[in-house]
Amino acid sequence: MGIQNRYKSSFVSKGTTILTAKPFAYVLRSLYRNERCDHCLQSGKLFRCSACQYVYYCNRSCQQGSWPTHNTECVNLKRVSPKVVPDMARLMARIIIKLSQGGDDEVEYYTKTKFRRFKDLMSHYSDIKKDEKKMEHFMFLCGVLFGFLGDTPMPNSAELMGIYGRICINSFNIFDLDMNSIGVGIYLAPSVVDHSCVPNAVATFEGITLNIRTIEDLPSLDWSQIRISYIDVLKTTKERRSELQSSYYFWCNCKKCEEPELMAEAAACSNKNCTNPCSPDMESCPECNIKLLENFKEIFDEVSSFTAHHLQNMKNMAYLDVSKMCLKKQEGVLHSLNIQHVQTLQTAFDSSISLQHWEEAEFYAKKLIKGYLVYYGEVHPLTGILLLMTGKIQLYLEKPKQALEALRKANSILAITHGEQHTLVRESLKPLLYQATTEGLK
Ligand SMILES: [Zn+2]
Ligand SMILES: [Zn+2]
Ligand SMILES: [Zn+2]
Ligand SMILES: [Zn+2]
Repeated sequence: MGIQNRYKSSFVSKGTTILTAKPFAYVLRSLYRNERCDHCLQSGKLFRCSACQYVYYCNRSCQQGSWPTHNTECVNLKRVSPKVVPDMARLMARIIIKLSQGGDDEVEYYTKTKFRRFKDLMSHYSDIKKDEKKMEHFMFLCGVLFGFLGDTPMPNSAELMGIYGRICINSFNIFDLDMNSIGVGIYLAPSVVDHSCVPNAVATFEGITLNIRTIEDLPSLDWSQIRISYIDVLKTTKERRSELQSSYYFWCNCKKCEEPELMAEAAACSNKNCTNPCSPDMESCPECNIKLLENFKEIFDEVSSFTAHHLQNMKNMAYLDVSKMCLKKQEGVLHSLNIQHVQTLQTAFDSSISLQHWEEAEFYAKKLIKGYLVYYGEVHPLTGILLLMTGKIQLYLEKPKQALEALRKANSILAITHGEQHTLVRESLKPLLYQATTEGLK
């Protein structure tokens, strides 16, 4: 075979599923326990396990599928009821049960010859032992587990900590179609993939099945070069590095972290017609030479800490009035691609959606997408989903031409991140595209 052919056969184009994995162990988040099936995590018509009255299933087949693990859990869930078991404790319990049933020997291959077992996952044992916060959490979970698992034989404390560490370092959030985290799971083979803030692959879910898909063309499939992002990257370099350090115990040296950061903490130029990202410390804009106000740095710091305070308060629930107040203060002070500004556009968008204020939602979506393109990049599940939502809103607002444009862009992204066969594309995007096309012709 010539070089040309060899190259051709190993070339991996973007939008290729390079790994498909089922979880080794997983749990539905307790937040969704009355709304989703404990086995397949789908929502819909459910019935309750008559024994524990704690978990719900779609049907017999889901109940039977869950039984090998739920068997041990069921009596214990009933015994501790009405207490809700923390997700992490329940995941630990499920791993303990699984390991006692021979889960030690379970392997998952990521190439023809390379595989991972549960014990191959990194536990960062010594890092966790030195980490006061994590140790406190671990001790709390042990207390819950001893109460929860009752008579079930427990591993010794070093083994327990190994399990806890492997969960901390390797677990994946399981997302639904709208990217809500509905579950947590351990996937053996996918855990081999390292992190980058500018990844060349993404993990997307179809139910509880995890797919790793390439988002860049690659000359060949070299697993040591595949990167996904472990965290939400809509953050400054400082924030990303500190989160990666405290959650995963490494200092990120990816391309994005090593580059100087121009936009994320930039100030707006005092000249309305200039888009240069200014530094609040500068005396004048290097682009248009306009002089910044004498007390600009003070104003900038004040707006920045005001915004930080409110974003922190809105971590679990976004408010439209608060978001608007922050955006107003940011005008002419924060650059339009300043990360705090983009994060505020996000809370404004989210709260408009939950209030069903569609005009405002569309207004913020159009601004937000510019930030997404910079921080998530063009080919990213969240960018695709934001465009899909934008198109859906625009259809509702009877703007089929604009909707079609947004949905077409969404299509070109989601075909790569999720694939044409994914439920999101088939059942959500395609019908909207069809609707936009027909309404656009009227
Ligand atoms: Zn089900
Ligand atoms: Zn039960
Ligand atoms: Zn990085
Ligand atoms: Zn300027």
